[in-house]
Amino acid sequence: MNRFSTFVLATMLLCKPVSLTFAESLGEEPSWKAGVSSVKITPEGPAWMAGYASRDKPSDGVEHDLFAKSLVIQDPAGKTLVIVTLDLISVPGPLRAHIEGKLKQSHGLDPENLLMNCSHTHSGPEIRTTGTALEGLDPERRDKAVAYVEKLQTRIISSIGAAFIKLAPANISFQKARAGFAMNRRLPSDTGYRNSPNPEGRVDHDVPLLRVEDTEGAIKAIVFGYACHNTTLGFYQMNGDYAGYAQHYIEVAHPGTVAMFMMGCGGDQNPYPRRTLELAKQHGRTLATAVEAGLETPKREITGSLKMAFATADLDYADAPTKDELLERAKSEDPYEKNYAERLLKELEVGTLLTLYPAPVQVVRFGDAVLFVALPGETVVDYSLRIKRENRKPGGPDVWVAGYSNDVFAYIPSLRILLEGGYEAGGAMRYMTTVVQPGAFAPNVEDRLMSRVNELIKSTAQATPVASE
Ligand SMILES: [Zn+2]
Repeated sequence: MNRFSTFVLATMLLCKPVSLTFAESLGEEPSWKAGVSSVKITPEGPAWMAGYASRDKPSDGVEHDLFAKSLVIQDPAGKTLVIVTLDLISVPGPLRAHIEGKLKQSHGLDPENLLMNCSHTHSGPEIRTTGTALEGLDPERRDKAVAYVEKLQTRIISSIGAAFIKLAPANISFQKARAGFAMNRRLPSDTGYRNSPNPEGRVDHDVPLLRVEDTEGAIKAIVFGYACHNTTLGFYQMNGDYAGYAQHYIEVAHPGTVAMFMMGCGGDQNPYPRRTLELAKQHGRTLATAVEAGLETPKREITGSLKMAFATADLDYADAPTKDELLERAKSEDPYEKNYAERLLKELEVGTLLTLYPAPVQVVRFGDAVLFVALPGETVVDYSLRIKRENRKPGGPDVWVAGYSNDVFAYIPSLRILLEGGYEAGGAMRYMTTVVQPGAFAPNVEDRLMSRVNELIKSTAQATPVASE
């Protein structure tokens, strides 16, 4: 970064706009405010991609660019929520911790004031933020991965800074639609659950959206959600998959608007059919069309105030494998199993295996209009269906549940899926890179996560935030 851009960045971060708006200086009611910004985060040149363990070479081009987008929302009392969406495979815990630390320094914000979500595109770069994740890579790939994360952090901070600069009075409302291309991907078979379309399986087809308009009625930002793996494609060209196309189509249809995709509880959902560029565009078009339909539904205006809470839920793992078991597994002819056992043995050499994972949970209330729950990890659809079932009441707030938020470290199965077994139940643990996962979660996983969710829902209703553990 050159000196000038460093200066611009620092200025953007440190200039916290405090001046009164014209309306406020006239003694009128203070209003909600919003500012939005988008920055490109496509790696320059070839880079290793994330999402499929079978890829054996770096990217060979860019189908369309990837973005980090930031929306800063302030309620009339000045309470702030920063929403960051990323066209990336995950939000690793260390990446969130870095951004959280910077926002504390620059704006005095607390963890509850920051919400980060990723689109889970399987056609973006790998993001390696820990020593564990970098281990065993050849030096060129390792250096590139480290440099990418550094640049990514800088760009996200710069995008948030730009959104703060643009803070201006805004009208914010909630609308919703539905889209049907997500299908459950857990198909029961004689040999267990296979990764195949299951038309009988559970789905969440809601498309919730937040519409941010300036005082003239021009749309400045649209945040929209959908619960479906972003896995139409698996080739070697960088792109945001269906969610990238959906954002692009919305931005083309509404010049001057930033469209932000928020992944729902799509851990066990896939877009079908898949595997061609045309289908990724088609699913993107379907989702963008659903958003257009949503924009025509009655607006639920957001008034009142923001209430936010953030805390961790300690998710226990099932009993960890012993050293003898791992030595046996390390003899496997399956290269992924062998590699996994070796990584776990390495962990054992220097200490013990993890017994629990502190998973972040966040709740945001937008006045009385929307109850927003952000879950961590690759949360499966049972969670969003349950939270909506338990919290949607006549005349009550609309309920929006996002997954893939704040720390995407592993799949988080419901008790049902844990007991059924298969990939999302624990089979995928061996592919997780940021933290070496010892194995499947314990059967209390859903209880642990839901107790924390319910606690935060209750605490925000009473406006007394629960402290982080
Ligand atoms: Zn996934």
